[in-house]
Amino acid sequence: MVHFVGAGPGAPDLITLRGARLLGQAGCVVYAGSLVNPALLDLAPAGAQVYDSARMTLEQVIAVMVEAERSGRDTVRLHTGDPSIYGAIREQMDALDALGIPWDVTPGVSSFSAAAAALGAEYTLPGVSQSVILTRMAGRTPVPAGQDLASLAAHGASMAVFLSAGMLEELTAELIRGGYGPDTPAALVYKASWPEEQAVRCPLKDLARAGRERGITRTALVLVGDFLGNTYERSRLYDPSFTTGYREGGE
Ligand code: SAH
Repeated sequence: MVHFVGAGPGAPDLITLRGARLLGQAGCVVYAGSLVNPALLDLAPAGAQVYDSARMTLEQVIAVMVEAERSGRDTVRLHTGDPSIYGAIREQMDALDALGIPWDVTPGVSSFSAAAAALGAEYTLPGVSQSVILTRMAGRTPVPAGQDLASLAAHGASMAVFLSAGMLEELTAELIRGGYGPDTPAALVYKASWPEEQAVRCPLKDLARAGRERGITRTALVLVGDFLGNTYERSRLYDPSFTTGYREGGE
């Protein structure tokens, strides 16, 4: 069997209990070496075979899983953050289905959650934003029509931009072209939850300079939106005058 496991954003204790248990029982581990903290490999049994997928093709990853299955070993496929976001897991699951190899998925803490934690930010502030857009810039991998950064920016929602820290000039220009004002609060969060984490807040227009000054070109998220500002409304849920299914509101 193959277990797709979210490794979390970096700190080894941000993997789930289930992920850690599966890793502890794995006969074979294929991990995304470009981003997964190698310290997590210490959780695998001493005899487990370990492969870094950063140097492998989809075909080679599947071949390793097939070989493990044939010799009666379970594989843990360790993806950074949560596997459902830019994890390229669907193509693996479909290949395994075609081969009759069973699989399951254990979710993980995504880096967009770890980045908010690093900043002490809440994406969904009442009266400010009730939506979060997770996206990326078009780079060598294109994005489908209608999902370019400028069109998404037009919503003025909270946004977390993955895989784009190497294009901060273009990214800023696109966000501003789409409708965020140049002074919209933004942040660059590098290696959230790692010891070398850096979390920088600045107005959108200064983002590229902030990245340049710190030499940040990868493993970073760009967050943008008024949720990073200082104005918001109190929640209704905890308002004394508001009645909920669990609490009677008073004057
Ligand atoms: N599945 C992952 C995302 C993989 S795509 C998740 O849920 O987080 C890789 C991109 O994720 C990187 O380019 C970067 O934008 C972001 N990323 C991954 N780990 C990060 C971290 N610890 N801090 C900030 N950004 C991170």
